[in-house]
Parts: sequence; structure tokens; C-alpha cells
Amino acid sequence: MQITHDLHVHTNLSICAEPEADLKGYLKWAKAAGIKTLAVSNHLWDHAVPGWIPWYGPQDFKHICKIKEDLEQITDPDIRILFGAETEYSYQDHKIAITAEVAEQLDVMLVPNSHSNISMPTAFYPNLQQHADFMLRAYHDILDDPNSKYVTAIAHPFAAVECPYERELLLPFISDAQYRECFEETAAKNIAVEINASVFCKKTPFQIRNSEFLRIFQIARDCKCKFSFGSDSHSHNHMKYVQVCGIVADLLNLTEPQIINI
Ligand SMILES: [Zn+2]
Ligand SMILES: [Zn+2]
Repeated sequence: MQITHDLHVHTNLSICAEPEADLKGYLKWAKAAGIKTLAVSNHLWDHAVPGWIPWYGPQDFKHICKIKEDLEQITDPDIRILFGAETEYSYQDHKIAITAEVAEQLDVMLVPNSHSNISMPTAFYPNLQQHADFMLRAYHDILDDPNSKYVTAIAHPFAAVECPYERELLLPFISDAQYRECFEETAAKNIAVEINASVFCKKTPFQIRNSEFLRIFQIARDCKCKFSFGSDSHSHNHMKYVQVCGIVADLLNLTEPQIINI
């Protein structure tokens, strides 16, 4: 499947992105990859929601809005650019770290249940069951939040970020019935499941076919979830990996109606 959207791109407004990762540079790579719709989804903790960790100090809504200056200057008939955010899950309050007022202003809102490196108490790491339970709890908390109606997609579901061990080891600690419960509710709420290029881009075709992530995406597909695609680029050249999402989509036998219409 040819991927025509990338809803997960970080510019240099995200402090973890490369300093030269500007929007203009991404456009070249996006066009080369056949992308027609691109969402800039920088990291965000809406500061109207208390409890942000210091990393989110500079990454509030006012900060990510700076991209709008670039958006106004770009008039390219071949590509549509959306204003998005990858917002955060607050473990402290068991909710999405965003207010309705801010969520309403986004074209695309991604929420991860797997920023363990940011949201999870570090004491959970040695116990893989506890780590998996954290992600499961986060997933349900996100879906149960009143602002879940604004969520476009769950970013890199169950793919623990910057995990000190192989993150796929965590997936069997959640049962298929528990995954089904998550994905049935995701489908019912019309929230997409993100196929994130960063989860698959370093794997061989054999490893992708045998990946636990592919297995849980099969459950999501069978639960009638829709899917979205994201490169999760933090630098321009990472966008070349976005088409690995097409390989995953083909392995899942996805067709256009199963892809989010954005
Ligand atoms: Zn993320
Ligand atoms: Zn991201």
C-alpha cells in the first residue's frame, strides 16, 4: 500500500528533535515519499493541566503554535499540512494532559499510552508485568477521558519509548482478551491505531512478519479499528522510513476503508 499521509512529524519545536528539523525541509522528504497530507505533531503538555514534568516546561501550547508562522508561509498545492500535537498522558491524574479548549484547536491529536520514559515511575521498569500494566492502564485512561472525543489516534500503541530492554518483551504480559477490550473501545470511539514507522524501520521483513506488534495490530484490525500512519520523524531524513508503514499495512491486508480518512 502506498502511504499518502504522515500524521506524526516533530519539528525543532520539539526539544528532542534535531535543531535543523524545520517544516520546509520536511516538505521535500514528504513529497519524495509520496505524502499528500502531513501533520506537524510536536510534543505538548497543555499547561492548563497541572503536574507536567520539567521536560514539558518549554513545550506548552503557546510554544507549539509557533509553527503557524511557517504554515502561513507555505502554499504548496501538492501537499496539505495540518496542525497537530502529540500530547501526553498524565499518570498522576490518569487523564490526557490537555484541556478541551486546546484540543479543539488541533487538526490532529495523537496520544501515546507508551511514553513510559516520561510518564511512568522508574520503579516499574524491573517488573515487566508492572510496566505492561502501566501501558494498559494508560490506554484505558486515555479512552475514558472526556477529551478522548478529540483523539485522532493512539500514538505507537504499547511500544514503550526508550525502554532499557527489548520493548516487544512487554507485549505478552497483556492478554489477547485485554487487547481486544482496548481495541473494541478504540473502534467504537472512532479513534485510529497508529502504525508508527519507528517501531518497524529497523526490523527485517522476517522480523516484521513475526513481530508481536504485527500480532496485536491483527487484533486491532479484527476489532474493526481504523489505522493511521506516522513516521515519528525527529529529523528530515527519518521520513524516508514512512513507507515501512505500507509494508505493515500489506501484511495486515488493510484496504483503504480501514485507513483513517483525514
Ligand atoms: Zn511518542
Ligand atoms: Zn512522536
